Amino acid sequence: MEPVAALERIAFLLEREDASPYRAKAFRTAAEAAHGLPPGPVDAAAAARLPGVGPKTAQVIAEASAGRTPGYLAEVEARADPLAEGGEELRAALRGDCHLHSDWSDGGSPIEVMARTARDLGHAWAVLTDHSPRLTVASGLSAERLREQLAVVAGLNRTLAPFRLLTGIECDILDDGSLDQEDELLAGLDLVVASVHSKLRMERAAMTRRLLAAVRNPLVDVLGHCTGRLVTGRTRPESQFDAAAVFAACAESGTAVEINCRPERRDPPTRLLLRAVEAGCVFSIDSDAHAPGQLDWQAYGCARAAGAGLGPERIVNTRSADDLLARAFAV
Ligand SMILES: [Zn+2]
Ligand SMILES: [Zn+2]
Repeated sequence: MEPVAALERIAFLLEREDASPYRAKAFRTAAEAAHGLPPGPVDAAAAARLPGVGPKTAQVIAEASAGRTPGYLAEVEARADPLAEGGEELRAALRGDCHLHSDWSDGGSPIEVMARTARDLGHAWAVLTDHSPRLTVASGLSAERLREQLAVVAGLNRTLAPFRLLTGIECDILDDGSLDQEDELLAGLDLVVASVHSKLRMERAAMTRRLLAAVRNPLVDVLGHCTGRLVTGRTRPESQFDAAAVFAACAESGTAVEINCRPERRDPPTRLLLRAVEAGCVFSIDSDAHAPGQLDWQAYGCARAAGAGLGPERIVNTRSADDLLARAFAV
């Protein structure tokens, strides 16, 4: 394995195991630097003189360039277990991912690296869904920056074909249920995930009205992490809303309910997931990746979906890009 590939593989595995982002980032930075290396063996001292390369990453470069498997890579490979038990068939049926972030908002990697990683995981397509303007803590994109991003995505698609990077957004649902981006711009995107990121503890009736307005909005394709709960670290309780009414509206308007795969979210909780299944909703199993290795987290959601009795016909990301774009989210 070449030094760049070895460093990228280590970064991927560290992101996948949810290691410190700084540790994974060190390997991504070193991979960038290693692009400029001539072929053939490089000793660790020479590698360490590259910008952003430290002792650990220099060692990986030295070992890989000499044709050996780097010790550090062997170590992280050895502890890379399957992420989840169950849902393997569903995972094999997935053709894409409807929710991921790049360094244009609060993700850690460039758009191209996210797209290439999604492709290498076997996907035919993925939707880039950076944040909307009012989520300033996550560097939400203004209308102008989103338009700039659309041009970048169009350019990337020329080099990534047949893989397709679809355009999208994770759009904030504002207090009154309206969306945090210009309608005209939203209408031109391939897919819109709408999520609540503010006032999560709004009173139940108001939150129900807010969610109903969003999921009934024809511009919205997917309802993101519907309860907003956080189950690890700095935990957060579920938002309170009339789940029967919201899921009925999702089913009626063909808005997919997201099964958010992030380990700290696992949203919706099983109790609500089962209610959404009963309501006849379709689902989107989304990584919500903020780093390339996190794209593999769909395995968590596949296990949960299979556990809830869902088959591929109810999962929108088992569809081809063309079927997805036809917005035929009804079962
Ligand atoms: Zn979100
Ligand atoms: Zn997100």
